[in-house]
Amino acid sequence: MASPRKRRPENASGPFYVDSSCIDCGACWQWDPQHFEDHGHQARVRLQPQPGEETERALMAAQACPVAAIGAPPNLMRQTPSPGFPALITRHPAGTCTTAAGVHGAVMGPAATWWCVPRGTC
Ligand code: SF4
Repeated sequence: MASPRKRRPENASGPFYVDSSCIDCGACWQWDPQHFEDHGHQARVRLQPQPGEETERALMAAQACPVAAIGAPPNLMRQTPSPGFPALITRHPAGTCTTAAGVHGAVMGPAATWWCVPRGTC
């Protein structure tokens, strides 16, 4: 679990933060590039999310982090969208959907899992 005591000083000021346990896997900025970015050898919050959809996106990035290095106050963490992952990324004109599993591996090394599902199932 992320710790405010280990908050990286490179984070933008505000409730969301990346702590020093980040392993630089890239899941957070792949999922939410508006608010997270690589900064040296670890991630940081580049811009604090606004309430609503932006906060939901940042909370999903926190859920995807394999080492729980993304933190926010408990009242915000409790707002993590209950459906969680897999999450719909996009609907393709051909009728398939791309979804993300979201949880990235920390033991075998960081990896993002994506898959396409057929028409009518998303
Ligand atoms: S998902 Fe977690 S471990 Fe990966 S880069 Fe972001 S903060 Fe670091």
